[in-house]
Amino acid sequence: RSYSGTFKKSQLRLEGVKDVIAVASGKGGVGKSTTAVNLAVALAIKCQLKVGLLDADVYGPSVPMMMKIDRKPDITEDKKMIPIENYGVKCMSIGFLVEKDAPIVWRGPMVMSALVKMTRGVDWGNLDILVVDMPPGTGDAQLTMTQNLQLSGALIVSTPQDIALLDARRGVNMFSKVGVPILGFVENMSFFKCPHCGEPSFIFGKEGARNAAASMGHNFLGEIPLEVDVRKGSDEGIPVVISAPDSVISKAYGDTAQNV
Ligand code: ADP
Repeated sequence: RSYSGTFKKSQLRLEGVKDVIAVASGKGGVGKSTTAVNLAVALAIKCQLKVGLLDADVYGPSVPMMMKIDRKPDITEDKKMIPIENYGVKCMSIGFLVEKDAPIVWRGPMVMSALVKMTRGVDWGNLDILVVDMPPGTGDAQLTMTQNLQLSGALIVSTPQDIALLDARRGVNMFSKVGVPILGFVENMSFFKCPHCGEPSFIFGKEGARNAAASMGHNFLGEIPLEVDVRKGSDEGIPVVISAPDSVISKAYGDTAQNV
């Protein structure tokens, strides 16, 4: 890879993990977790890489549902958690550690110590790439993650909408401040293709993330349409990349994964 970040001493290199990439968004609800999950599976299945997925979305962990994993991780003799594999991806989620329907009303310090445990207390084995589904926003939780993981780069997920982009810019600035290179933007919910007439509708505006990436001098990694199969796949715990591997939407994730 051509980039090189400036890392602080506290940042930990994970033994056996070649690259750690953060999937981030400035605000919630733009499809950050959906993108992280489908990209992780595409990197494993389509790019044939050894992939891990770390769900650090403390306030709404989605990996247990989206990756259909419903058990707690085993623990090694030296007290590290063993990730649980599904669809070719080794997964660890803050959601494995809490009861399913319990509200995650953690105070700041508890969130921080849980996040540190998620970064340092997992036995990943050998991985080509660890995809981190970051907590949404640009506050303390994100900083804890960037300070405790030696991130190779960050991928910013945004819809084409102005407000999402504004928040995305904030995300970009946060990573820049801590010396983490921006790998590029992924535009989610780029358009909706009418199943009846085939016409695309640009529900959240057109090419907003593509233009923002260009204006900030960052790469544009791909666009993912708004599609029922994506939502269904997440709800049913079978990512669309697995349930419909030859679909246009899977190709969009595959192409984006290649660009990463
Ligand atoms: P975030 O992690 O940013 O909060 P999620 O990944 O949880 O967002 O997505 C929010 C909602 O939008 C979920 O219900 C998800 O299934 C849906 N969603 C995300 N991306 C798409 C897409 N490309 N097409 C259809 N639904 C999507």
